[in-house]
Amino acid sequence: MSFLNAFQNHRKLFHGRVLEQESLSRHTYYKIGGPAALLLFPNQLADLGVIADSIQESGETPFFFGQGSNLLFSDLGLTGAAIKTSDLNATVTIENENVIRAGAGVSVLTLLRQAAKSGWDGFERFGGIPGNIGGLIAMNGGTHLGDLRGMITDYEVYRFSEKRMIRISEEHLRLSYRENASLQAGDLIWSAGFKLLSGDPVDVKRKIDEITARRKATQPLDFPSCGSVFKNPEGTTLKAWEIVDQCGLRGKRIGGAMIAEKHPNWILNVDRAQATDIKELIALCKTSARERFQIELHEEVRCVSPAGVIESLI
Ligand SMILES: Cc1cc2nc3c(=O)[nH]c(=O)nc-3n(C[C@H](O)[C@H](O)[C@H](O)COP(=O)(O)OP(=O)(O)OC[C@H]3O[C@@H](n4cnc5c(N)ncnc54)[C@H](O)[C@@H]3O)c2cc1C
Repeated sequence: MSFLNAFQNHRKLFHGRVLEQESLSRHTYYKIGGPAALLLFPNQLADLGVIADSIQESGETPFFFGQGSNLLFSDLGLTGAAIKTSDLNATVTIENENVIRAGAGVSVLTLLRQAAKSGWDGFERFGGIPGNIGGLIAMNGGTHLGDLRGMITDYEVYRFSEKRMIRISEEHLRLSYRENASLQAGDLIWSAGFKLLSGDPVDVKRKIDEITARRKATQPLDFPSCGSVFKNPEGTTLKAWEIVDQCGLRGKRIGGAMIAEKHPNWILNVDRAQATDIKELIALCKTSARERFQIELHEEVRCVSPAGVIESLI
């Protein structure tokens, strides 16, 4: 039995929104992506139990995502189900004198506003990152000021195979540049604990405002995008944007997609771009970087196949 059929048998017990044949372009920053056969928005813990039963009966796991700010879905969409976690666990609480707990459905912007108001230090490193806490944890998101390392104490996942919450504690975190190797496939991030570092609210707000203003000035925010497309490569002092630039690709356009003039590590959806337009530009950058510099560029953006698998382009 497919997940779609299994879910229909449990649908009455599901509280969140259920959309069928829903265009994923409406749920991603890129505004790109064909229809998902089924798109679920769980909004309470009990909904995850319903999804767990459907997974168990079908043997199929849906694709989980947050605000879709780092995703490129296929023009064909998804043949199976997707779970958008933005309606789930949107609370920020002080767990104890050392830990702030933020739900997976909390937006990074909301957490930053709360940090500025309360004088929680250290959060400026996430200034200007779109998306939710779930996505931030999955991606080990960050800026030149740092990422999750040193800022989180743990995170909780809902493990569908065991129908329970599991806490990944600090000693089990395996975080590297835009990677979280401690996140197991099929686990859904539920919350994260952040270190409560008390600071002066005025100072914290100033630091957050500074990085946000710096980003607004340097980033091409006028068109839909996923932010940086490539990770900065290791073993070279060249940044990904410099490599793309020196390959002569700044401003290069394919279909409705364009490598940004303002920041060549960004590929913009300038005019109803298809996923294939973006992918062709990604492939062109990778081939050019190989030929010109013998450097392998790796995608930071996650390209999702119609089967719900994250794929790397050649
Ligand atoms: C304009 C712009 C600027 C950006 N700047 C930055 C930046 O400075 N630094 C940076 O790091 N990123 C940046 N990004 C990329 C993106 O915002 C981050 O990666 C963000 O953390 C993704 O959050 P999201 O909720 O949108 O996740 P999504 O894009 O929805 O998902 C990203 C990944 O996380 C997984 N995921 C999401 N939620 C869950 C969950 N609850 N459980 C399990 N897995 C989950 C998804 O399966 C996917 O693999 C930028 C993007 C844009 C559009």
